[in-house]
Amino acid sequence: MRTRHSPANQDRLYRALGGQPAVRPPQVDRRKPCVWQQDENGTWHTDCGNAFEFSDGGPSENGARYCQYCGRLLMARPCREGGRR
Ligand SMILES: [Zn+2]
Repeated sequence: MRTRHSPANQDRLYRALGGQPAVRPPQVDRRKPCVWQQDENGTWHTDCGNAFEFSDGGPSENGARYCQYCGRLLMARPCREGGRR
């Protein structure tokens, strides 16, 4: 028995289905990191439109390297430079 596994076939299938190859998450530019901007209340506002609050510290203190909403690399922008003190 012979099966056909050629990229050209897959390509044709995608085109038939509407031209979108594979799964694509909604409107995020995956080449850029997800910027988390902290406001003065300690809430982090993510680039992809969500908000998150850590009970202690920020993304780096909690070992968060990727945004849990969009899966991109996380870039933390703390409210104040220089950290706490
Ligand atoms: Zn994100």
